[in-house]
Amino acid sequence: MGTADLHIHSIYSHDATTTVRAILKQATDVKLDVIAITDHDEVRGSLEAQQLAPAYGVEVIPGSEISTRDGHLVALFIKTLPPAGMSLTETLHNIGEQGGIAIAPHPFNNLPNSLSMEAVLGALVDTEVKNVLRGIETHNMGTQNFDKVVQKLSAHLPFAKIASSDAHIYWAIGAGRTEFPGKTAKDLRTALENNTTVPVPYEEELSARAILSWARRITMRQFGYASDANSLSSPILTKPISRSMIQRLRKKQDGYLPSCFYDRTRLIKPGEFNSRSSRCVK
Ligand SMILES: [Zn+2]
Ligand SMILES: [Zn+2]
Repeated sequence: MGTADLHIHSIYSHDATTTVRAILKQATDVKLDVIAITDHDEVRGSLEAQQLAPAYGVEVIPGSEISTRDGHLVALFIKTLPPAGMSLTETLHNIGEQGGIAIAPHPFNNLPNSLSMEAVLGALVDTEVKNVLRGIETHNMGTQNFDKVVQKLSAHLPFAKIASSDAHIYWAIGAGRTEFPGKTAKDLRTALENNTTVPVPYEEELSARAILSWARRITMRQFGYASDANSLSSPILTKPISRSMIQRLRKKQDGYLPSCFYDRTRLIKPGEFNSRSSRCVK
């Protein structure tokens, strides 16, 4: 069996604290075979990880956590970034057209960015997109106290069951992992499509400790520091974010802006995009 963590955030997410190379080192150290870096409405972190991965012992799937109008959606095996702000069904169409598949992260818990049962069932009855939505997170380290409903319902839904860390700090990577027959990203995709994954939730109560650790590290990030490691053999330390990295973080991906900006450029100023909830102010 192979082991994957398919929901990890790098500093390309505004709310995360780990460089891409530190993620690759930690993922290798905790013996993951496959990872997906799924930054909020960003794909650059996962593309950068794919380029660096050969020097580490882990395979990287290109991915992103998309802010759909109905809640967050993890897109995997994508080539370009689907725009934010579309409905769940529209986003699944976009992902399917480019050969990708999707996972519903932390669903059915009434938290502001979570997909509702109604939205997921709506996608399930849409013949054009039902084969795109393949997995559901039954265990998310960050929402572990709110996962009871999805754990009960998942037995009745035709989705591969996934446990993920949703790590925004480096040491949480792998705290929530998914086992699958095989070892490679290709094997994992087959397992998602055949519904043969096995979620392996983290045994300990982690949320409170993770939140405190995240608060400390995100404060450090405001002062220009991140968890970083030069290579597989160097330790992960809190280090100043390099000037070139800061420039890359400032530069929005070509052609990408949340779709509400496209629709209402003259009506909504960037400050009115609610980055906490990743939703556009109506
Ligand atoms: Zn999320
Ligand atoms: Zn996330």
